[in-house]
Amino acid sequence: MSLINVQGVVLKYIKLGESDKIITILTDKLGKVDVVSHGARKTKSKFMASTQPFCYGEYQLYKGKSLYTLSQSSIIDSFQSIIMDLDKLSYGVYFLELIDSLTENEAKSVSMLALLLKTLYILTHDDVNLKLLRLTFDFKAISIGGYMPQISKCLKCGDKISEGYFSIIDGGTVCRNCKDNKYNYGINKETMNYLHIIKNIKLEDLRNIKYDEKTIDYLQNIMTRYIFYQTDKELKSISLMNKINK
Ligand SMILES: [Zn+2]
Repeated sequence: MSLINVQGVVLKYIKLGESDKIITILTDKLGKVDVVSHGARKTKSKFMASTQPFCYGEYQLYKGKSLYTLSQSSIIDSFQSIIMDLDKLSYGVYFLELIDSLTENEAKSVSMLALLLKTLYILTHDDVNLKLLRLTFDFKAISIGGYMPQISKCLKCGDKISEGYFSIIDGGTVCRNCKDNKYNYGINKETMNYLHIIKNIKLEDLRNIKYDEKTIDYLQNIMTRYIFYQTDKELKSISLMNKINK
């Protein structure tokens, strides 16, 4: 039996039998893996806390025929304060679900784990506008996931543009002449500028930028449609997040 030590964040779990769980962890060495945790739903289990969603920990696993099994674990940060705040929780659940939808099992993605950890730290410690955090997270997560939108040049003719349209289907900006279907959303100079900011900014610098909530809402609507079109996955957490943060 070979053991492997990984660090990772628990994205979700499903119940198994009477007291077991299968947890999904985004890890540093193995990418996303499903791990059987025996007895983890018993209140006295040593795995009880380390197998909760959001928990960032060290996990020792061994590989069975198809799944990994948890052998040891220790918590690095449980991000408990996210769970205590309903607004933050609704965003946090969304961040976990989007990352789950953008990653394949056992495809290594250290940068996705780094993005998730940074986002959870900011959600926990920083006083940052949550809508702005989500929009920026979305842009970075889909870019790492292979769907980075092209902005500033027209996707079709290659002309440099400072305004135009965002094409959900083609994944980026197009000019007035090249817009050709109903999945185009107008992008004026100001929104184009915001797109550049969220593409380039480091998450830790978000608290320093000026933002206009209407523009953020407008771009988020485009982003949400774009993600849905490209991934073809409906995220359950979106409706809850929208309800709580109306
Ligand atoms: Zn064009």
